[in-house]
Order: sequence, then C-alpha cells, then structure tokens
Amino acid sequence: MTWTNYHNHCKYCDGVEEIETHVQQGIIEGVVSLGFSSHSPVSFENKWSMKEKDIPAYLKDIQAAGEKYFGQIEIYKSLEIDYFPQQSGVIKKWVDNLDLDYSIGSVHFVDAFEDGMPWEIDGPLMTFEKGLEEIFGNDIRKVLEKYFEYTVQMLEKDCPTILGHLDKIKMQNHHRLFFDENATWYQDLVKQALEVAAKSGVIAEVNTRGLYKKRASETYPGELGLRLLKKFGIPICLNSDAHQSKEIIGEYKNTAVLLKHLGFKELMVLKNNSWQAMPFDVNGIHW
Ligand SMILES: [Zn+2]
Ligand SMILES: [Zn+2]
Repeated sequence: MTWTNYHNHCKYCDGVEEIETHVQQGIIEGVVSLGFSSHSPVSFENKWSMKEKDIPAYLKDIQAAGEKYFGQIEIYKSLEIDYFPQQSGVIKKWVDNLDLDYSIGSVHFVDAFEDGMPWEIDGPLMTFEKGLEEIFGNDIRKVLEKYFEYTVQMLEKDCPTILGHLDKIKMQNHHRLFFDENATWYQDLVKQALEVAAKSGVIAEVNTRGLYKKRASETYPGELGLRLLKKFGIPICLNSDAHQSKEIIGEYKNTAVLLKHLGFKELMVLKNNSWQAMPFDVNGIHW
C-alpha cells in the first residue's frame, strides 16, 4: 500500500509525539510523502496552537527527518493556519516567512464571545452550545452562514494550498441534531463555497479524522461535498489529520472505496516538491 498524508500534528501543537515517530510509523504504513501541519500560532491563549518560539525547532526537526529518511519517504513542512477575517493575508505571511512547502487553511473559529475570545466551533459540545446561544441567539442557520462566509473569504482573499476539512462544523450534529443536512439552505451554502473553491485553484482535502475518532459518520467533507467536488472538478488529496502516529492512515482504505465509488480517479500528491495528480485504487496511490 502506498499513501500520502499532508495533515499531521505532532508534539509542537496538540499532538504528543516526536516528528520522527510519525515518520517512522508512516514508513511502516506505506506513506511515501508526508507533510507536517502544526496549528499556526495565534494571538490568544489556547491548548492546541503552536508557540511562536517553537517554530525554529519545529522546522529543524522536519528538515532533519527529511534528510535522515531520504529515499524512504518525502517529508514536507507546512502549518494548518486559522482563518480570521480580521487578520488579512495571514496564510500568505506564514508561507512566505517560513518558506513553507504548502499551507492548509482552516476555519476553527467563528466570531467571538463578548470578552473577545474567539468561539471554537469544533470543540466540546458545551462550548458549541455556549457560543450558539450567546453569540448567535440559538440561530444555527446564522452560524452556518457565517462559517461558510469565512471559508469563502479565505478562498477569495488568502487562498491556501489545501482547504482544510470543509464542513467540520457538522461534527456537532453528531452530538445532537442542530440542523438538517438535507435542508436546501444548508446544501446551498456548501455548494456556494465549493463554487468559489473551484475558481480558486485550491486542493480540497478529504479528511478522515471524524471517522476514526467516531465524532462523525462521514469524512469532512461528507458525501454531499464530495459529490460537488467531483462535479466541479476540484482536485482532492487524502489526509488523516493525525494527532498520533497510529492515526496516520486512519480510515484511508474505506475512504478510498467511497471515493472510487463516487467516480474519483486521482489524488493530488506532492512528489519531488511539486503537486501532481496520481491515479489511486483502494490499496493506495499508483506512485
Ligand atoms: Zn483543523
Ligand atoms: Zn488539523
């Protein structure tokens, strides 16, 4: 089996293991091209983002692993960068300043509480319910509209290489039903965001984390989004969003089965430092 994964967290953010541990496990699992994407530093205290002071060590560890395992696996450096409307150009800035190989742009925060603390939409149910009530007066549709508005703004103004977990907010629907994913208004939001994605040149990730963490019944994006990605001809890559090395190809095989069933023929991979589309089947990429 031959796989790639461009969405990995290690001890420098909210993962726990060394970069080298992920690399070694990747080699065991047949990963031939692996990218690290710690959560970029942000301006407020939280448990998951990288500390700015750790960036040199992070980059050095990635570089060292790339050299040590040269010929066995390709290693790339990146960040998963949070999009906030008030911080224009932050994705481009990180890429330029750190000479990253690629970027992942993700929306994890929508609006903010009264004290200015950004509201985390993919955290615990309690936090989600608090923001829903205090910031949005329990109007879930307004939340979804704003979430996808941020996604569209990011794609239009500060487009990353990879669009992180397009519809991750629907993981909250796994806790309790906040909205009907079959409602036309919701489907239109996903469609509108992907229409913009199609024009932006972004690669959409198919993120398997919700599945192996059992926080979702589908990948991010789910089948609705996947069908639209196919329809609009948006290139995709397969990522596990691993926070532990054992998650490195979590749910890849089942997801590859689904992707083949939906008519996808190629996955985007980084090979020799350039993005290219490669055919795949349920046993992996034809590297
Ligand atoms: Zn994320
Ligand atoms: Zn992530």
